[in-house]
Amino acid sequence: MIEVNRKGEVWIFIEQHKGVIEETSLELMSKARNLADILGVKLAAVLPGSGVKNLATKLFYMGADKIYLAEHPLLGTYQATSYAKVIYDLIHKHKPQIVVYGATVNGRDLAPRVASAAKAGLTADCTDLQIGDHTLPNAETHKNLLFQIRPAFGGNIIATIINYDRWPQMATVREGVMPMPVPDTKRKGEIVEEKITLTEDYLPLEILEEHKQPRKVNLKAARLIVAGGAGVGSKENFKLIWDLANCLGAAPAATRAAVDLGFIDRDHQIGQTGTTVRPSLYIAVGISGAIQHQAGMHQSLKIVAINNDPEAPIFQIAHYKIVGDLNDVVPKIIKSVKEKGIKS
Ligand SMILES: Cc1cc2nc3c(=O)[nH]c(=O)nc-3n(C[C@H](O)[C@H](O)[C@H](O)COP(=O)(O)OP(=O)(O)OC[C@H]3O[C@@H](n4cnc5c(N)ncnc54)[C@H](O)[C@@H]3O)c2cc1C
Repeated sequence: MIEVNRKGEVWIFIEQHKGVIEETSLELMSKARNLADILGVKLAAVLPGSGVKNLATKLFYMGADKIYLAEHPLLGTYQATSYAKVIYDLIHKHKPQIVVYGATVNGRDLAPRVASAAKAGLTADCTDLQIGDHTLPNAETHKNLLFQIRPAFGGNIIATIINYDRWPQMATVREGVMPMPVPDTKRKGEIVEEKITLTEDYLPLEILEEHKQPRKVNLKAARLIVAGGAGVGSKENFKLIWDLANCLGAAPAATRAAVDLGFIDRDHQIGQTGTTVRPSLYIAVGISGAIQHQAGMHQSLKIVAINNDPEAPIFQIAHYKIVGDLNDVVPKIIKSVKEKGIKS
């Protein structure tokens, strides 16, 4: 077990692929910076890889005070066992109080292995992290704990999970839920070059070739999104969503129900088990507004909802409400945009 170190740093695991930092690692910087400031400790980025020292500058700009650089030729490509060993060894040596990981495929693979090695807790897929105090039923108060906040029971409640005795406190955080920090090119920091000992025994796989399937759509970067739900009725009718999106220059998206019905593919899903977005404008068409869908879009700057049920929950968060049949409303909007254009 790793001893509880109340002066320990806040750490972020930096995921990179061929020298390009995964976006989620950078998004995490803003929240982790905030946690470190509240606790009055340093924010450190843990950077494993091979030939990745040049990434340190960017990490300082994004908010890190310190980089633990873990370079080794055998860390060139991510493998669970070698990365878990390196991160665990560093945790054991430096005793951070908090370690956060992006809830990416690799982050979700790595974090539980490290937690198991460290006999620490881990909360997966957090949507928020806060610092707070907690008093146990026996009146014992634990100050400045990491509140690990995530939807639970199918998204019907928001759970706050704490861990006061099995440190470090660890969490994975979903993609897109934390805003990307604004880089400050004046920031500098300290690079700690760690001596890494690894042998081929830690690499159970021999990687012959790598193929990365590019994402078909980048919803996180979209300024305008038109999303359709089960109310659209059919894959053929989903053309309305594509047409409205095309004429507005928006990205088409969907609810899980629409994806499950085969109207559009899963890359377009918004919500708790899809992508989290915060565009300037989100147009929800034939979407009821289930809590799991709202989890992925409620931070949109302006929300327009089109639904024939005036009681639909989406109207509770919409800034503009259109009660009507989408088959009438959407073609009218398309016609009007085509005739009059859009004023931004
Ligand atoms: C663990 C878990 C994770 C989940 N993750 C997600 C997720 O990531 N994303 C997600 O979206 N969902 C998710 N869900 C599913 C979620 O609970 C809802 O079932 C889903 O969001 C409903 O999608 P919908 O609004 O398209 O369909 P419905 O709830 O069926 O709503 C359809 C809406 O269309 C309206 N409508 C029907 N016809 C018309 C018309 N002609 N004109 C105008 N309006 C019309 C109806 O009034 C209704 O409000 C998850 C569920 C669970 C349990």
